[in-house]
Amino acid sequence: MSAEAASGQTVNGAISSGDRASGRRIGVYVCQCGGNISDYVSVDEVVAAVKNEPGVVVARSAMFTCSDATQQEIISDIAEQQLDGIVVASCSPKLHTFTFREMARRAGLNPYLYTQVNLREQCSWAHTDDKSGATEKAKRLVRAGIARTRFTLALDPLRVETVPRAVVVGGGVAGMRAALALAEIGLEVLVVEKGPHNVLVGPGAEEFARRHGMGLI
Ligand code: SF4
Repeated sequence: MSAEAASGQTVNGAISSGDRASGRRIGVYVCQCGGNISDYVSVDEVVAAVKNEPGVVVARSAMFTCSDATQQEIISDIAEQQLDGIVVASCSPKLHTFTFREMARRAGLNPYLYTQVNLREQCSWAHTDDKSGATEKAKRLVRAGIARTRFTLALDPLRVETVPRAVVVGGGVAGMRAALALAEIGLEVLVVEKGPHNVLVGPGAEEFARRHGMGLI
């Protein structure tokens, strides 16, 4: 492993000279995940396949895209290349969506102009016996991520006031368990049951509801 790779810095990439047909300036970062992706997907092939997609002005691979060093490189690219969209092709959005949204925010880019593409769980880990197939799938997923990014708009979070109250329809075991779970997180709960109250998990239902702050109708 090279010193650059060991530090998590960018190890391969391409920067084009300017805007393409879409008018967007998109950076694409394809992660190797220390071999978790690159052992089963040819990351360099993926970068080569997408670097001329409309709107792409930077396409690179990195050993560990979530590392501080690579995040800093992406932040520098956003400033120097005036990127208005980024695609990170790495792992599940469940893992790092907030990492990269926060990175975009630090770079002064609206966090919703970033798109996550999952190459690890959906390509490399899913197709360990078919590197060529996994690589082709990765190219298509990254192209789709770029296409999506071309249509992204800067968004501002909207705060909506809600009423902390819930209705549970049905007072059987599942309904009462759901009602209890909702009451435990502080919601006011109303259980609606078509039968008499004593069909609600047995004759102690009214006492159960009273103790847990639920209304019965
Ligand atoms: S961004 Fe995800 S895929 Fe890439 S190095 Fe970090 S954990 Fe691995």
